[in-house]
Amino acid sequence: MRIAVLAIGNELLCGDTTDSNSTVLARMLLENGLVLSETRVVPDDESAIRLALQDLESRMQWIVTSGGLGPTEDDKTAATIAAFLSVPLVEHEPSWLAIEKRFADRGIRLTENNRRQAMIPEGALPLFNRVGSAPGFAVLRGSGGLASLPGVPSEFAAMARDELLPKILASSRQSIIRRRVLRSFGVPESHLGELLDPLPLPEGVWLEYQARSPEVRLKVVARGDTSDEIDRRLADAIERILGVAADCFYAEGDGSLPEIVGRRLLERETSVATAESCTGGLIAHLLTNTAGSSAFFSLGVIAYSNEQKSALLGVPHSTLDQHGAVSRETVEQMARGVRERAGAVFGLATSGIAGPSGGSAEKPVGTVHIALASTSETWHRHYRFAGDRERIKNLTAWAALHLLWSHL
Ligand code: ATP
Repeated sequence: MRIAVLAIGNELLCGDTTDSNSTVLARMLLENGLVLSETRVVPDDESAIRLALQDLESRMQWIVTSGGLGPTEDDKTAATIAAFLSVPLVEHEPSWLAIEKRFADRGIRLTENNRRQAMIPEGALPLFNRVGSAPGFAVLRGSGGLASLPGVPSEFAAMARDELLPKILASSRQSIIRRRVLRSFGVPESHLGELLDPLPLPEGVWLEYQARSPEVRLKVVARGDTSDEIDRRLADAIERILGVAADCFYAEGDGSLPEIVGRRLLERETSVATAESCTGGLIAHLLTNTAGSSAFFSLGVIAYSNEQKSALLGVPHSTLDQHGAVSRETVEQMARGVRERAGAVFGLATSGIAGPSGGSAEKPVGTVHIALASTSETWHRHYRFAGDRERIKNLTAWAALHLLWSHL
């Protein structure tokens, strides 16, 4: 099943708006085992729309347009498609009545050009718009069709899911595709590839790597004729992957590392306090993005100066003098200090040189120390991260959360 989105709108070509409607449809299709083959963006211009339709028609079973169904002169989609299909535009009366009611309910005066929104190509099926006023429409042809949806993202998404998707699925008789996503942090994409690429995988299964700093996502994709067959193939593939690389992955599916750590802290009814020197509160921010975080997060200290590391966290002056602020000894004491002061189960601390200045030969920019203290033990990790300040802070926060995750 070859499906294309044709996104129509001048604003999409001036850098004002990004075409997110294609992404939304692509996700919906993928959830249902289909893959979007192509997206195109053209301006609100009849000849540009027509040329794109001509080209896509020869290669695609479904063409889905987005945008240009509004009431104004610059909304050209319905008229251009009608002309492309050599049919007139006709008023769809139930849509017009729905528009009238919608305006009356809101006390807004209707204008004559609102009628344009109820015009669809003759013979097309209207697609109901439960979010806005303009209906969409679909022309079914052979084992596919041509559908037009409004550009407003909320309207596009609702209509795509409720009205369009069932039609596309009904016309799809081909093998389907499904994927599962494993998420990893701290292992370079190339290392994952080295481990996993030689693995024999079940028939119809392949791997796709997606580096999305600071993590790498491994998509395990399977093609098959039935849902059961695909699920079996995916389960088999994932078992083989985890057989050689279980340590590399922290989760499967949705939910990033900070969300997963937050959920685990809640589930385990445990608690954490943070002492941050080079991450400026980022770890506390990421942890408190989880709803209900006050149940597990009691205190976050951002201590950049040596005085405050001593005053608030109890790091001895002798430790700071002897080893410096960016050291294993200091960060371990920060973790223990914040844990004790907060009365938390875990204390998590960072200290590092985020740059661009402040580095030395012994401790270059990117040097980071992380410590996690529990009631009985303290664990430490040392990194040399590369990149700019923002990247180093981000990587440090994720590495700290990863350390906490590994002890949860
Ligand atoms: P309206 O009835 O509001 O005019 P429409 O179908 O004519 O709806 P457009 O006028 O093309 O849609 O766009 C309406 C809004 O939706 C604009 O704010 C536009 O930036 C946004 N939009 C249009 N196309 C897309 C797209 N492909 N992805 C994301 N946003 C879009």
